Amino acid sequence: MAIVMLGTSLPSRRHRLRRLIPQGVQARAAIVIAIITLPLLILLIVSERDRYQLATILQRDGHQTALHDAAVAALWQLSLGVCSVVAAAGLMAVVIEFRLLRPMRRLTFAASRLADGQLDTQVDVGGLYMPDMRTLGITLNQMARILEKIALTDSLTAIANRRQFDHVVAGEVKRSMRMKRGLALLLVDVDKFKNYNDLYGHIRGDLCLKRIAAALQSAVRRPSDLVARYGGEEFAVLLPDTDEAGAHAVARELLAAVRSLNIPHDAWERSIVTISVGLAVSIPPPIVEPTVLIERADQALYAAKQAGRDRIVAAEQITRAA
Ligand code: GH3
Ligand code: MG
Ligand code: MG
Repeated sequence: MAIVMLGTSLPSRRHRLRRLIPQGVQARAAIVIAIITLPLLILLIVSERDRYQLATILQRDGHQTALHDAAVAALWQLSLGVCSVVAAAGLMAVVIEFRLLRPMRRLTFAASRLADGQLDTQVDVGGLYMPDMRTLGITLNQMARILEKIALTDSLTAIANRRQFDHVVAGEVKRSMRMKRGLALLLVDVDKFKNYNDLYGHIRGDLCLKRIAAALQSAVRRPSDLVARYGGEEFAVLLPDTDEAGAHAVARELLAAVRSLNIPHDAWERSIVTISVGLAVSIPPPIVEPTVLIERADQALYAAKQAGRDRIVAAEQITRAA
């Protein structure tokens, strides 16, 4: 037993050998260059040694001038050879650095950013010269796009999820303050949905949420409008560059779109599935934090529920009433 433990604790010969090899890619490339250039240098020196031996024979036979010429030629050839080998090695190092190591570092950097969850990562494949690297770059870009889509989409309803909403609302609040334009938020909640689940079951409940999400999505017109699943049976509709009148018009469209689905709901006095909408617009007064806008829309939604559901209440109405 002790022998086995001793055997496993000692690193194998291959392991020890591997430890001697430097870890960095550049150090490894330098070793490769050295391995290539060293035999060339040895070959050169050996051939020059032969030339020198020939010159010695000539000297022994009394050919002084021939000896001098041969020695000079040998020296020139040796230095020329050394220079060209060094230049070739340097050129190779430059080529390896720009064509191999730098693109590899870019790919590694992109992959580690992706692993860190930074899904907006994109590799510029224009600088990737080798076909395999280019394929890897394109694959990483596709991976990033697919991961981003999955991360920002609600898996049940296929509309934007809360993560996307949080990201977009933060940007839109800043933009609306900068541009001094209205930003409207509608918080939508399905009425008596717990009763719906209790009566029809969760599978039909899920199907109902899917149809509602599609109806809400089809009710908004502008590409900048965002319909997101806020959580559970709540949805958020963000309307950039929209004033209170415009937001009311969209809210009415949302109510009508869900009603026109005509989904039976026998555990709710309207007999069909309906929604309530809380509405808030960011000006005036200017809203600094997204949470303020969400808080006001939420209060309006609560008021809509209190007032009997299946209706729209604006945060401004509550403020005016108070
Ligand atoms: P109110 O009119 O006051 O909004 O009543 P409600 O019953 O809709 O509100 P409540 O918050 O009591 O219930 C929300 C229900 O929504 C509870 C939960 O079962 C259901 N729900 C939330 N998320 C999902 C989901 O992903 N699928 C299904 N089928 N049901 C969900
Ligand atoms: Mg709710
Ligand atoms: Mg509800």
